[in-house]
Amino acid sequence: MLRKLLELQQLDTKISALKQREQEIPRQKESFSIQRKRLETELKESEDRVKKLRLEQRDCEGEIEQKNAHILKFEGQLLVVKKNEEYKALLHEIDLQKKQISLKEERILSIMDDIEHAQMKLQEDKKRIADEIRKLEEECARIDGELAEAVKDRKQQEGTRAPLAAQVEAGLLARYERVRRARTPAVVPLVETNKQAEACGGCYMTIRPQVVNEIMAAKEYHSCSHCSRILYYPGNIEEVTNFEEY
Ligand SMILES: [Zn+2]
Repeated sequence: MLRKLLELQQLDTKISALKQREQEIPRQKESFSIQRKRLETELKESEDRVKKLRLEQRDCEGEIEQKNAHILKFEGQLLVVKKNEEYKALLHEIDLQKKQISLKEERILSIMDDIEHAQMKLQEDKKRIADEIRKLEEECARIDGELAEAVKDRKQQEGTRAPLAAQVEAGLLARYERVRRARTPAVVPLVETNKQAEACGGCYMTIRPQVVNEIMAAKEYHSCSHCSRILYYPGNIEEVTNFEEY
């Protein structure tokens, strides 16, 4: 009976480890969404740089157009002014506008150069970032697969629980369920203390010799009077050899 209970405890430990894993697996995806946002921001910055340069180029072209219009207007006035100073002032204005135009034209050349570089960088960024995002998506899909596998595994284990629990005596099972809600493992072996006395393998408090004898005789089930865990003598349970792992 107790051997079946230990098997049940092993199964329950396995099931809760699988549940734990189900909680942890999706957490790996959290860092991916941060990475993805970072990549998207990077791409947007690269695109914005090209846009900003194009806007500046358009502004410069607009200003040149405006200045050319001023020059035309001044040239028209040249034909009608009477006074020499006015004529000179107009020539001076025209000259000034022309100088400003040539500065803007130089600026446009430099912007066009920048645009070319920014576009090249944008193309590279697009390719690299698409690659990285694809890898992240593959990784996410892999994690989803891992999770689905873990859920399937857990459900399969859970399916074997009821038939196993049915093999445990009802009173003992109820006691086990009660204890395990508060502490796990709920079933623990007697362990020898350095005072050569037997103690509870859960809380390590000494167990009375009479109780130890009864546990060893396997006549009755005993719980630790300190922590309520169900106690057993390891020598009575040879079959469940890997119990120690849990
Ligand atoms: Zn105890």
